Amino acid sequence: MFKKILIANRGEIACRIIRTCQRMGIRTVAVYSDADATALHTRLADEAVAIGPAPAAQSYLVMEKIIDAARRTGAEAIHPGFGFLSENAKFVEALDAAGLVFIGPPVKAIGAMGDKITSKKLANAAKVSTVPGHPDAVEDEKLAVKIAGEIGYPVMIKASAGGGGKGMRIARSEAEVKDGLRSARNEARSSFGDERVFIEKYIEEPRHIEIQVLADKHGTTLHLGERECSIQRRHQKVVEEAPSPFLDAKTRAAMGAQAVALAEAVDYVSAGTVEFIVDKNKNFYFLEMNTRIQVEHPVTELITGLDLVEWMIRIAAGEKLAFGQKDVKLNGWAVETRVYAEDPLRDFMPSIGRLVRYRTPGSPEDEAVTVRIDSGVEEGSEISMFYDPMIAKLVTHAPDRTRAIDAMQAALDAYGIRGISHNIPFLTSVMANPRFRAGTLSTNFIAEEFPDGFQGSEVSGENLDVLIAVAAILQQRRAGREATISGQMDGALEFDPAKPADWVVMLGQQANPRTVTPENGAYRVTGGKADLLIEVVGRLGDLVLPCFIDDRPVTVQVDRRGPALRLSYAGADIEALVLTPLAAKLAQRMPVKEPPDLSRYLLSPMPGLLMTLAVEEGQLVKAGQELAVVEAMKMENVLRAERDGKVAKIQAKPGESLAVDQAILEFE
Ligand code: ADP
Repeated sequence: MFKKILIANRGEIACRIIRTCQRMGIRTVAVYSDADATALHTRLADEAVAIGPAPAAQSYLVMEKIIDAARRTGAEAIHPGFGFLSENAKFVEALDAAGLVFIGPPVKAIGAMGDKITSKKLANAAKVSTVPGHPDAVEDEKLAVKIAGEIGYPVMIKASAGGGGKGMRIARSEAEVKDGLRSARNEARSSFGDERVFIEKYIEEPRHIEIQVLADKHGTTLHLGERECSIQRRHQKVVEEAPSPFLDAKTRAAMGAQAVALAEAVDYVSAGTVEFIVDKNKNFYFLEMNTRIQVEHPVTELITGLDLVEWMIRIAAGEKLAFGQKDVKLNGWAVETRVYAEDPLRDFMPSIGRLVRYRTPGSPEDEAVTVRIDSGVEEGSEISMFYDPMIAKLVTHAPDRTRAIDAMQAALDAYGIRGISHNIPFLTSVMANPRFRAGTLSTNFIAEEFPDGFQGSEVSGENLDVLIAVAAILQQRRAGREATISGQMDGALEFDPAKPADWVVMLGQQANPRTVTPENGAYRVTGGKADLLIEVVGRLGDLVLPCFIDDRPVTVQVDRRGPALRLSYAGADIEALVLTPLAAKLAQRMPVKEPPDLSRYLLSPMPGLLMTLAVEEGQLVKAGQELAVVEAMKMENVLRAERDGKVAKIQAKPGESLAVDQAILEFE
């Protein structure tokens, strides 16, 4: 076995690999860019080597620097994680030449599977079912239209070098084929430096289901069942689970057998994933093979009890797989959500900054439930613009699907993140979605269930009652504590927290009177739709407050905003001001301040640089017309007019840095 392994990656996957090495008694070497000098992975490893400036192209992607770091520290093998150099055949060749072991598949397999046209041909030859289509690259518009007609609409135009959902277009007509061919080729050229695209049938209402394979150097190739990854946004996975709610044992075995056949056809070694697209009649078609560990591997680990990184290391060291296909048992259900630093209310715009507060969910009370958090950050960490904005992978496992989803909802409620925007409210709303719960998935799920994007969750009747009750209890406890402090000072105890008290929870102008009565360490709250008996476990001032409502565990998150409380639960939040009945009466007599009308302004949707202004004062604009371009996170964002109007005043100049919500211009 290796004595020392270098991890050529960062963030959660680097930390996850280091932990397995530690358990196996293997020493670890981290590499880090300037931006990651104090990052968790850098500190977790036994040794760490600086490899250059923050941009990945100058650090994590530079093969020579990684090889040099391995030489200097005496590491014998390199685990690439995913992304960066993990599927780079040249890197593997360079490691071979340097006498270092690559913890992954051989060069030949990476090369064969790195190109979609080549891999599709290989799959056909190995009798793996592929999406009907044309086997070669297409350049000519006329030919593309002819091929599309033969395949039958709709068709998918895809970049052969594609990845991450880039260079892909659906076409439903001749005109769309022409358009799609041009734009897919352009995107492929600029993203991958390779403009070859091919055409295949677009599978309607498809599900994305993939098979995990594991192969050793001694001729054994196994599969570890499937993962369903149909919940995608713009062809990028957001939620994954294992097993799939759609597959029966027969289809699973058939897909598994084809995945193994394909792996064997390219002499595959190590862990890999064969991705399939599955139609509503359970016909499945090969999409591509990923020749690395995948982001969503934890769901497979939780249902099989195997550590995939451990097996990648053992296989790279020459060990034989210690079990056969019959020994692979799928146990219970696992769900993974990807927690991203992005703002779901602003079209999932990436959000950068510091994790001012960071609380991960604790262990569940229920022993049959596991909560796993794979993360590379901690409180105080910076989510930088240089890398993928994933904060963590949250994974739950339970005996059945419903309980695994329930556990996920509870864990999302208990995940406290402040300082940046994150997608937890969106993930919560997916977990609560009846169609998701029924398992009726397709890759169009998000587009169909959230047709206008994510607008935030409504606070429903019962949840609203809970939030109002908790707000009243917090005020009661606060008043009690203040009374004790001032009582000690002047000897007069005005407020007795052990006695019932009346409060009015103001939500804006709406008054919600409640009576809070202490009862055996808990509080009975009356005056709402139902009487609630609530025990608040946390301390005043905690960000995340575990509570029991009539013995049911729920977690409420609390932020103080001056005198107001912001409470959130189940993806929804309220801002409340809790007053005594007298103060509430006075407050209601105060004149209401009208909020300013912001619809007359073009606001910057994110912090960034104003690149260009396309209009001037006095100009008439039409809905959809380009107004300005703001650059943020290396992306240019075109801001367009939402309706027809006239520009009254320009409020920002090109070259100016903009804060979020800063006005760029004003309409009449
Ligand atoms: P990438 O390598 O860019 O991730 P994939 O080939 O793996 O590209 O496809 C990504 C996603 O695009 C799939 O999960 C699926 O949702 C969709 N997709 C790809 N090919 C087809 C197709 N022929 N029909 C329908 N959807 C497809």
